[in-house]
Amino acid sequence: MIQEQTHDAELLTRAFELARKSYDEGGCPIGSVLARGPEILGEGHNQRVQNGDPIAHGEMDALRNAGRQASYADTTLYTSLSPCMMCAGTIVQFKIPRVVIGENVNFGGNEDFLRTHGVEVEIANDARCVELMGRFIADRPALWNEDIAE
Ligand SMILES: [Zn+2]
Repeated sequence: MIQEQTHDAELLTRAFELARKSYDEGGCPIGSVLARGPEILGEGHNQRVQNGDPIAHGEMDALRNAGRQASYADTTLYTSLSPCMMCAGTIVQFKIPRVVIGENVNFGGNEDFLRTHGVEVEIANDARCVELMGRFIADRPALWNEDIAE
């Protein structure tokens, strides 16, 4: 756990970079990384626009790209934005024990659901993540509302 935490800043930065890549592509700027200690198992970003895939949130894309895992017991999921209920449910379903969240200013509300199911939740309040997501919501409110089904 201590070893994992030393990699948090670096891996969260990678999730942010993936969010920015998606933003630059015209997509929803949410990036995610699944890691085992310092090792990235899979990474991805929201693919709603790029692939026309409403289920491929950043977290789901990272999990898909990581492929099959015999166990998630020693993994941490990094995500630039607080997970929606679909992604939070998947985290619980796969028994991912730890989630590092870039920010929950622009979206949140499922942190207690995760904690109730035994997931350790770290909220970084990363200014880069807050700024990028806030800019996206202001620029493209219809696209954002589509992503969260509002
Ligand atoms: Zn989601």
